[in-house]
Amino acid sequence: MLIIMKPDHTQEDIDRVTSHIKTLGFEPHVLPGEQRVAIGITGNQGPVEPSPFLGMPGVADAIRVSKPYKLASRAFAPKNFQMKVASENGSTVTFGDGHFVVMAGPCSVESEEQTLRIAHAVKERGAHVLRGGAYKPRSSPYAFQGLGIPGLEILKKASLETGLPIISEALDEESLEAVAEYADIIQIGARNMQNFSLLKKIGQLDKPAMLKRGISATIEEWLMAAEYILSQGNKNVLLCERGIRSYDKATRNLLDLSAVPVAQELSHLPIVVDPSHGTGRRDKVAPMAKGAIAVGAQSVIVEVHDRPHEALSDGPQALLPEDFAEMMRDLRKIANALELKMN
Ligand code: PEP
Ligand code: MN
Repeated sequence: MLIIMKPDHTQEDIDRVTSHIKTLGFEPHVLPGEQRVAIGITGNQGPVEPSPFLGMPGVADAIRVSKPYKLASRAFAPKNFQMKVASENGSTVTFGDGHFVVMAGPCSVESEEQTLRIAHAVKERGAHVLRGGAYKPRSSPYAFQGLGIPGLEILKKASLETGLPIISEALDEESLEAVAEYADIIQIGARNMQNFSLLKKIGQLDKPAMLKRGISATIEEWLMAAEYILSQGNKNVLLCERGIRSYDKATRNLLDLSAVPVAQELSHLPIVVDPSHGTGRRDKVAPMAKGAIAVGAQSVIVEVHDRPHEALSDGPQALLPEDFAEMMRDLRKIANALELKMN
């Protein structure tokens, strides 16, 4: 259950409600929010009714949310969430609310020259956000691990030149500090979806975050992971479906497009689809991106490289700039038909 406090509640009101919850034998969690504070009660599958709380001073509402995630649920926030992201000197990008956002760029930041080239190529072809990893979660410890802070500096330069906001992955609490300083959206990779201490740290920042679905995570586990961020006060969370592990080697992962409408029914958070990691195959990226917009995703994130044979990571799934241009043309047609803005 969620007890929603009035905007003018006092600390005394919160203390009164939390001690009442404790006397009923449940654990209260105070969930800070920009507009309203909510108090969550866990373990209340049945006996607690909203009525004892409704008359209490400072309490605006009591909503029964029997799910293990509350702030991420539609019961708490029925309206689709709209999130704005701005680069240091460029345009503002809106996620949700009738907009469709395309994030594109290389898998890894390899060099300044490579990143600037690709950043300009995707910008000229209509991308809204620049992606690029400076910290890479590689399956083998001998594979390229990313350039670290110099990579983030390169991304910043590319952002200043193109006006595109940056999304980049934080691998751990140490890289989080650097990524939060340089990037406009913090990416949490599939392998870190349940790194709860990292999620809590991100929740304490005032910075948008994109949470990738873990390779074997259920949709409920994904939403509970989002709840870790939201429950610390950061409400700017994007969910990203990037494919789950399957037995079939025909594609790198199994891109679960049904997760988009399912998660949308359960949560107000905007959904991004990553058809690059979802398929692992260049020629399958655009068809799945078109599928993503058609099933209701608010955004896609794709890997682009102009010399994929030289790429230090994920070359086989990188779109060439001309493939990216063609995908953008097709996405625009679908966006028009669905009356989505794609500017
Ligand atoms: C990436 O976006 O480059 C990446 C490593 O993604 P994932 O966490 O989905 O594997
Ligand atoms: Mn990659």
